[in-house]
Amino acid sequence: MKCSQCGVCCRLFLINLTEEEYRSGKYKTMFDEFVDDFEEAELVGANILEQKEDKSCIYLEDNICSIHPNRPQSCRPFFCSSQEDKFKTMIEKIMLYKEK
Ligand code: SF4
Repeated sequence: MKCSQCGVCCRLFLINLTEEEYRSGKYKTMFDEFVDDFEEAELVGANILEQKEDKSCIYLEDNICSIHPNRPQSCRPFFCSSQEDKFKTMIEKIMLYKEK
């Protein structure tokens, strides 16, 4: 199934950058301060993409990812039509959100 571009997944989930992505400085993250020790950055959440006031991803514009070709690795494998077990809970949360 093709992505319907509802944008719900980009509103519900925090996106963790990989170390390479975090060090690249290309992405807006939760903290202005850069945490050099990546383990510590993960612990405190410094490698998480910034969110807007409504908790949606800073890069979500009109339900479309404004950086789609360069979106983080965490965003790439997820489709709400996936049958993979690892996405089951996320998909359930999306369905609950849509029912509200
Ligand atoms: S980077 Fe793009 S795909 Fe990833 S959560 Fe943000 S808007 Fe969605």
